[in-house]
Amino acid sequence: MAARDTTAGDATGGDGDSAVARRLSVLLPLPLAGAYDYLPPEDDEDPIEPGSFVQVPLGTREVTGVVWGDGTGDVDPAKLKPVVACLDTPALPPSLRDFVDWVSAYTVSPHGAVLRMAMRVPAALAPPTPRVGVRLVGAPVEGLRLTGARQRVLDVLEGGLAALPANVARQAGVGVSVVKGLADAGALERVLLPPPRLFETPDTTRAGPELTPDQAAAAARLRDGVTAHEYAVTLLDGVTGSGKTEVYLEGVAAAIDAGRQVLVLLPEIALTPQWFERFVARFGVRPAVWHSDLKHTVRRDTWRAVASGEARVVVGARSALFLPFGDLGLIVVDEEHEAAFKQEDGVAYHGRNMAVVRGRLSDCPVVLVSATPSLETMVNVEQGRYAALHLGSRFGGADMPEVAIVDLRQDVPARQCFLSPTLRTALVETLEAGEQAMLFLNRRGYAPLTLCRTCGHRMECPDCSAWLVEHRFRRQLHCHHCGYRQRVPERCPACDAEDNLVACGPGVERIAEEAIALVPEARVAVMTSDTVHGPTAAEELVQAVTAHEVDLLIGTQMVAKGHHFPGLTLVGIVDADLGLAGGDLRAAERTFQVLHQVAGRAGRADKPGRVLLQTHCPEHPVMQAVAAGDRGQFLALERAQREAGGWPPFGRLAALVVSGRDEAAVDGVCAALARTAPRLAGVRVLGPAPAPMALLRGRHRRRLLLKTTLDVAVQPVLRDWLARVAPPGRVRIHVDVDPYSFN
Ligand code: ADP
Ligand code: ZN
Repeated sequence: MAARDTTAGDATGGDGDSAVARRLSVLLPLPLAGAYDYLPPEDDEDPIEPGSFVQVPLGTREVTGVVWGDGTGDVDPAKLKPVVACLDTPALPPSLRDFVDWVSAYTVSPHGAVLRMAMRVPAALAPPTPRVGVRLVGAPVEGLRLTGARQRVLDVLEGGLAALPANVARQAGVGVSVVKGLADAGALERVLLPPPRLFETPDTTRAGPELTPDQAAAAARLRDGVTAHEYAVTLLDGVTGSGKTEVYLEGVAAAIDAGRQVLVLLPEIALTPQWFERFVARFGVRPAVWHSDLKHTVRRDTWRAVASGEARVVVGARSALFLPFGDLGLIVVDEEHEAAFKQEDGVAYHGRNMAVVRGRLSDCPVVLVSATPSLETMVNVEQGRYAALHLGSRFGGADMPEVAIVDLRQDVPARQCFLSPTLRTALVETLEAGEQAMLFLNRRGYAPLTLCRTCGHRMECPDCSAWLVEHRFRRQLHCHHCGYRQRVPERCPACDAEDNLVACGPGVERIAEEAIALVPEARVAVMTSDTVHGPTAAEELVQAVTAHEVDLLIGTQMVAKGHHFPGLTLVGIVDADLGLAGGDLRAAERTFQVLHQVAGRAGRADKPGRVLLQTHCPEHPVMQAVAAGDRGQFLALERAQREAGGWPPFGRLAALVVSGRDEAAVDGVCAALARTAPRLAGVRVLGPAPAPMALLRGRHRRRLLLKTTLDVAVQPVLRDWLARVAPPGRVRIHVDVDPYSFN
């Protein structure tokens, strides 16, 4: 077996010798350098198609891989082993194989590590368990003893159709043994049933809502794009509530009508029950769903249904990009600006950007949807690479809420409190008027920092460079980075002072405490990943708020997304400055987006809404833009700053994160990387420097940042650089092309 690099474009094929052509290049879902050559199976009759799943020997094991093409022929055939078996699973479609090649090349990740993302469901590759049914045999059986129970079974099967014994038994009101007995006696025959249909085709003949002229024009453009079946990217841009979802569902309908499949990507957090209700209302059935905590059997069935084409519409998180769609007709990326589309661990990729690539490789239109599009996407529109469709106002004429800035330097909250007098008054007024309110603070727990009043000791995670966050309901301190937990100690671990630890700063739990003291009779709910576990709980809470069984909703980012609460008229943003801290490239952009999104929750129905935004820096462009509702002004400023600094999208970035438990070894690798750093025109290397999270889960971390001009392709530079450094096994170099997190 020989490793070879099968990155995109390296399709040299055989050298004309027919013996050589009978080798297969098999890619394995393992972080290996490339594909391995194998001989065709010994009992080989039909040639194995590229994309086929095969079982091959690897050392002493057997693993499942995918035939990627012809072998290279540079290994002695005597050393090659044959493929053990070809699996009876639909082959990986060519567009998905191209996609795996592309993602591997772009992200500078091992080819097999990317393939693994397309093979996450091993059970889906095994043949489905056969379903054996029973049906009547043609002729009556001699000497059959007919009891009442047996007769009822025969009556059920009267029409001659086959059915599962359990179903027959249930219908006949008898035990399964009766059905089995009849089969053993020869009165019924056993037959193989086709697999059950799990995903119904959405019904596009149902009437959608009557679209406004704006919406109808946008929908027509999307339909035309789908009918053309060509790659093109369109930004669907409109304020929250302008009907973007209704519009793109028309594009979905067009793709279904054309007999194709559709992928709708949502940030995981936005896979909300309300979204599904909308889909069901439009198409009468539920779409297939794909995200990280699906039940095992559901994953398996969904994967197979996508491969067979039975699942026509899949709604999922970014990992759904790696599902085996055979015939994509449309990809929608809703909330395209969301940072949640970026995967940081393992193969670091951006779901939105890779969706665009997937669309290009599948000749299929891609629609990016947002009320606050990313600067990247806006620049692509401006430069003519993407088209744009705009939806003007909110549906039904509801006004955008009025946003007022509360200057925390003047409007000072009481000691140990975090709600300003203005916000407190507004809260009381709103609830007294029988309306609903929401408080937003993007911080879980009770307090982000616990310190000792005697010696100033700060409670930190033993394994991370992070403060422990107090969760008062549980009387615990948590590390939000690694999951470490401990009880809140009674004595300071540093100076042993008793009962002198104090909570500093607010988390949502602390805001809830303050609000309950202010409006004790209000029905308050807290919505965070700590208080709401799983989609069912989230659905129940959202329904309770919609039904006005909750007066005041307090939460993190979770409350910002997609929900439609008609009775909500006041939104209080407790700490608008929170996201601006830290040296993150997109901190301002992200803060603008989330604040705008939260603000958009207020006053969606007939009543006007208002938003109070608490900040210590009212003059900051982000606060000004949110207050003025002026996205253009904010984007123009942000764009100018990025362009002046040569930052994305006006330059390229790639990060290397070097990590390991042994700090000296980590520093050694960093020194080697610094020594061999590329010295090329248009390329700068920043670092190595300790990462802001210099310790994470017990691993020491250093960062290097490669910053280049747009004309430099960073991948060859990175590959060349990495090839010159050989880190010891216990030190990891993680490559992140287009990094979003700078931790
Ligand atoms: P967005 O996706 O832009 O936030 P939605 O598509 O969710 O907007 O629309 C907001 C609300 O308005 C939804 O409840 C939706 O059903 C409703 N809506 C939008 N357009 C129409 C329409 N043309 N007719 C009826 N209801 C509509
Ligand atoms: Zn930790």
